[in-house]
Amino acid sequence: MKKISLLGSTGSIGTQTLEVIENLGFELVSLSFHSNEALGKEQILKYKPKFVSISNEHTYEKLIPFLDSLKIKHSNEPRKAILEETEMVVNAVVGSAGLMSTVCAIEMGKKIALANKESLVCAGKLINELLEKNKEARIYPIDSEHSAIWQCFFNKKEVKKIILTASGGPFREWEYEKIKNATFHEALKHPNWVMGNKITIDSATLMNKALEVIEAYFLFSLSKEQIEVIVHPQSIVHSMVEYRDGQVLAQLGSPDMRLAIGHALTYPNRLENNFNRLNFVGKTLTFEKVREEFKSIDLSFRALEDGGTMPAVLNAANEACVEKFLNGEISFLDIQKIVEMAMNAHEKINNYTLEQVLEVDKWAKKFVYDLTT
Ligand code: NDP
Ligand code: MG
Repeated sequence: MKKISLLGSTGSIGTQTLEVIENLGFELVSLSFHSNEALGKEQILKYKPKFVSISNEHTYEKLIPFLDSLKIKHSNEPRKAILEETEMVVNAVVGSAGLMSTVCAIEMGKKIALANKESLVCAGKLINELLEKNKEARIYPIDSEHSAIWQCFFNKKEVKKIILTASGGPFREWEYEKIKNATFHEALKHPNWVMGNKITIDSATLMNKALEVIEAYFLFSLSKEQIEVIVHPQSIVHSMVEYRDGQVLAQLGSPDMRLAIGHALTYPNRLENNFNRLNFVGKTLTFEKVREEFKSIDLSFRALEDGGTMPAVLNAANEACVEKFLNGEISFLDIQKIVEMAMNAHEKINNYTLEQVLEVDKWAKKFVYDLTT
């Protein structure tokens, strides 16, 4: 029975991971969450983990007597102690808040099922250097596109390019003028996936795909010229790899994150599950170009071109903009404009340290707050 540690247990990926763990009969040894007290308590009572970490100070203080009464070890830092007894860490925290856990898990030589794409976006170069040093550690992607590429990626020398698919989000067919006034309720209606708020807004701005370009760049050690994005509204083809002889391998499946989570948890095996199966009859698969008005993907290629800490600025400025948009403080199209402004204002650091990435993350978020309040 595989021992799993789940970070971000109360989120969309977190709760689906719990379903997968149950389905596969794995053991949940520890979990972490931030502020969802009710769901956190429910999960603790149901799964009886040995260790719980709660990052929100207020929630943590409140739940200490509850954890003590159950004799569960606890902390408010989702770091070393929580990962000690596990074979595999699932990082399903949202945003750059997940970076330190990824770093810590690598340093401890753990296998990491990584949903937190922001870790790789903010500090991909550093993470790859750490993986070089800690040979036992591995990252297995949960993001469906990267899981697809991982499953189709054989001999790197023979790979011509990868093709990331994007659903196009809820505004794919909207007039540009109408998109300007899109509300957060409209942006939160993703056509194919039910996900956390931040990634749903990122899917509407195509910033999710922009982050995924950077995630793929570091995960598969590609050049930026080897990464292409195509819109595929049905979200059935999760991504593709084109080889130098012109043949293309694609991975298909129903839009159900439990499949990608299960693959990361069971690799190199494929275990039986009762998740959604794909039914081809009556399905039409279509592909189209990304609309030019959406600038996010261009910004991600620019961040890769600039290198150093620029991807961290793109990520942090976007996180702050999404928060502002969800609070009704900026408009939908302001997101891409403000992210670009933050990138223009940043003096990148090429060979950054972890401390410098964390500083840059703070700087870019403050840049957005100062500009918008
Ligand atoms: P959610 O917002 O649904 O969940 C986020 C989780 O992170 C919650 O458990 C939350 O705790 C916790 N959290 C929030 N802030 C902090 C913090 N400061 N420190 C520690 N933990 C924190 O997000 P998703 O599940 O949608 O996404 C998680 C990650 O997976 C993201 O990186 C996303 O890009 C990626 N991903 C998600 C997909 C999806 O289908 N949802 C698909 C592919 C990738 P609490 O709720 O208790 O506050
Ligand atoms: Mg994805």
